[in-house]
Amino acid sequence: MSGWFDLGDVAVIPVVETPRLLIDPEEFFPERPGVPSGWAAEEPWYAPGQGRLVFAMQAFLVVTPDERILVDACVGDGKRRARPEFDRLDSGWWQRFTATGLAADDVSTVVLSHLHVDHVGWATRWSDGRWTPAFAKARHVLTAPEYEYWRSAAGAAAMTRTGDYLADSIEPVADAGLLDLTPPDAELGPHVRLCPAPGHTPGNTAVLVTGSRARLLLTGDILHHPLQLMEPDVSTRYCVDPGLSARTRRRTLEWLADTGTAMLPAHFAAPSAGRVTPHGSGFAFAPAADLHRPGRYVPSGGPHAAQGSDD
Ligand SMILES: [Zn+2]
Repeated sequence: MSGWFDLGDVAVIPVVETPRLLIDPEEFFPERPGVPSGWAAEEPWYAPGQGRLVFAMQAFLVVTPDERILVDACVGDGKRRARPEFDRLDSGWWQRFTATGLAADDVSTVVLSHLHVDHVGWATRWSDGRWTPAFAKARHVLTAPEYEYWRSAAGAAAMTRTGDYLADSIEPVADAGLLDLTPPDAELGPHVRLCPAPGHTPGNTAVLVTGSRARLLLTGDILHHPLQLMEPDVSTRYCVDPGLSARTRRRTLEWLADTGTAMLPAHFAAPSAGRVTPHGSGFAFAPAADLHRPGRYVPSGGPHAAQGSDD
């Protein structure tokens, strides 16, 4: 268990699917292969014995006084996928989700930061012989430019590598009338807003969570690995627009440094969250230990406080 983040009246709970996915640097960062520099070449960020980057795969549950919001949906179990590590996964993620004390119907909103295969899977589960929405009472927020891109010829071409994961993970949600296409800067409530972050994909977003005590920017895939803190211009092989991705990354890191806001990237190894400060041509990173709480999240109003059906 990787604990949770305490923002005062808002909690952010990582729900981990795979804590340690090993990735060949050459596959992910073709312009920056080999061993990362400095501390990014050490555990928990890098496995020196295997010469592999360490990625975590996780979703985040945001519990506010009035909403339960799931940010991103990982790979999902039991789905046919081209990447061997993702194919017909049996991760135990669903058990870890329900161990938070929430049921699927307690989730009021699912935010899909972007439509890559490792961010959409748990939007559906296999039931009665078909893929059906896993969070049937939730609106599923996605930016309009993101949805339009993946439904275009360019998006379809990009999916030939992976197979059409939108067919089993997004179209059933759309068919059920649960998809809510929003502008990239939509306010989702008093504590949560989207922040446009185009580049990795055209409609990619970050999610800014504001509690009574602190703010946390869920940076999604603006950056994947700490080597991009030291070298913010390095984009991934999977960035649709690598140049724009790099500009978005630097702009975001500068804003985080200027404001002292902590960030929580989707793929950083646990405990994942930290603050950045300018360092050389990039940024240094310090874990946000002041926000991290070890162990299991228990709502402050008692074990059922977050489960009331007040809609
Ligand atoms: Zn990702």
